[in-house]
Amino acid sequence: MRTLVLVGHGSHTSGDFAGPTYRFAEALRERGAFGEVVEAFWKEDPALRRVLRTTASTHVTVIPLFASEGYLTETVIPRELGLGHQGPVPDHGVARVLGGRTVRYTRPYGVHPAMTDVILARAAEVLPQTEWASAALVVLGSGGAAPHSGDRVTEAHAARLRERGLFQEVHALSADALSTDEWPQVVQARKVVLVPFSGQAVPLPASPESARQVYRAEPAGTHPGVVDVLLRLAGEAADTEQTGGDLDRAHQAAWAAALELTRQPARIGEVLVTPQGRLLELRHALDEGLPGTELQTLVTPEGLRDHLRVDQRGQHRPVRTYRTLRRGWRGVIHESEWRRVLHDLYPAVTEEAYAHGCYTLRPTPWPTTARRQTGRDARVQRATPDLVERVSREVCAPCMKTRLWAGEKLPLTFLDGVPGAMPCAEACTVLIARVREELPSPGGAAEETGATVQDR
Ligand code: SF4
Repeated sequence: MRTLVLVGHGSHTSGDFAGPTYRFAEALRERGAFGEVVEAFWKEDPALRRVLRTTASTHVTVIPLFASEGYLTETVIPRELGLGHQGPVPDHGVARVLGGRTVRYTRPYGVHPAMTDVILARAAEVLPQTEWASAALVVLGSGGAAPHSGDRVTEAHAARLRERGLFQEVHALSADALSTDEWPQVVQARKVVLVPFSGQAVPLPASPESARQVYRAEPAGTHPGVVDVLLRLAGEAADTEQTGGDLDRAHQAAWAAALELTRQPARIGEVLVTPQGRLLELRHALDEGLPGTELQTLVTPEGLRDHLRVDQRGQHRPVRTYRTLRRGWRGVIHESEWRRVLHDLYPAVTEEAYAHGCYTLRPTPWPTTARRQTGRDARVQRATPDLVERVSREVCAPCMKTRLWAGEKLPLTFLDGVPGAMPCAEACTVLIARVREELPSPGGAAEETGATVQDR
């Protein structure tokens, strides 16, 4: 058995950014090439920092679901995983043994040469191949690069496409180029196929000339063919002598304890779980006793997960252990789906609660967390203990977890029958972002409260 971890950016304020990661993870599960496929995010739960603890096997491949290399793939993700690697990732990935697991970290999917074929597949959806020879193909990179050029990744794909000679012209442009009147000077052909590389929306080109026919394709980054690229990346990073992963014993023991809880009606966090033969019924504990006909019934792990990622008012829940679980639903699942559903409800808490009970969960004090931060988050290293405590009391107030990292004690956990008792071994990214917002930026005043575009 091997585990594949897909890492997305996620967001503190919107659930939309996690959508592609969940969709590709589901497609990979259907292919069945891995014993398990796990999602993780930098800016929301399930948190990247804790994901390795949640994997069932001791052979783990981690793929960043990003279109290009950069600060996140070369600094943040390796740092949060504890890989001890910084900088460009080689073609064959980075391999480390961490806590008894062999972890292989790959380059992001966008840089793989197979993405060139995905761009062509998108182009074929809007213009038949028979017309390509008289058309221009424009690969649109992220905004921010000089409008007349693409970024490094789209330039590389455009170069490969030029070599193939299928189109009259091939260009890599910034998506911003479409809102200027420069692009018609760069692109000569009368037929133009625009293929956005990642998932960004493509604006209408500025001043489209009547003599031009512009065909807008869907983004390459959302094409189902990306799943094949992910499988190739994982395959190239794999150790050829590997005979298959072993099961992680602590993980198995933790989940055996969690399954044992469901042998009789039990409360876990805000959820009431009731066994019905081999099925489990889940609902908000405050909906106990309501007839099932008054509740919305959800019967798949994906349906439950998506329903419960937002609160009663439809607001995104970046921290799943906040006491903001919506009411009015009931989930009916097979007990074999329990692990996945509980992980979606309260990511990593089962493994951490079990480790806490065995005295193997080591809290990370705030100063260590702060020292690890880089980029604009490095500012939190200047936060005083009083400031961290003040912000934490506000941020952590709605959270069920007990702050072990701040010295709080947790004698028992939900695995011992105390429903809301869950350990927090390290400050989460929501708290880190809020502490940073309280500190003056190098330019002057403290940031406004609320996530910035960069932080989402
Ligand atoms: S830092 Fe606070 S809000 Fe974040 S997970 Fe821990 S207890 Fe919850």
